Amino acid sequence: MSGTDSSCVFCKIVARQIPAMMVHEDEHTLAFMDLGQVNPGHVLVAAKAHVENIYGLDDVQASALMRTAARVARAIRDAFSPKGLSVYQANGKPAGQTVFHFHIHLLPRHEDDGMAFTWPVKNPLREKLEEYAVKIRGKLSF
Ligand SMILES: [Zn+2]
Repeated sequence: MSGTDSSCVFCKIVARQIPAMMVHEDEHTLAFMDLGQVNPGHVLVAAKAHVENIYGLDDVQASALMRTAARVARAIRDAFSPKGLSVYQANGKPAGQTVFHFHIHLLPRHEDDGMAFTWPVKNPLREKLEEYAVKIRGKLSF
């Protein structure tokens, strides 16, 4: 891993200084659920290196991130059978970026979601996130 920013919350998650519900980790990527509940139930796929946005990813990081996102998405599908899955990523504050460390959101959706998220329940408790992470890990193949 190259490049960390000691003030970055995702770098602290990578370094295990802030707890998160881990779904997957490899050389270049980390997939986790945020225990701070800023994005309740979202699975976040992040670069392990501190790369601010998509413009800063090298080819190896970009490939690794999409591979992890696709595999975790399939594991979510196999574990929870959502009706759909939203995948999104933001660059810059005007686009909605709030943590300046590259990451992709994976968000399973159901018919009656609207913009409110169910996973399969809205605002899942920490214990539920742990249960969901275990289910996703059980379906994940690397
Ligand atoms: Zn960072």
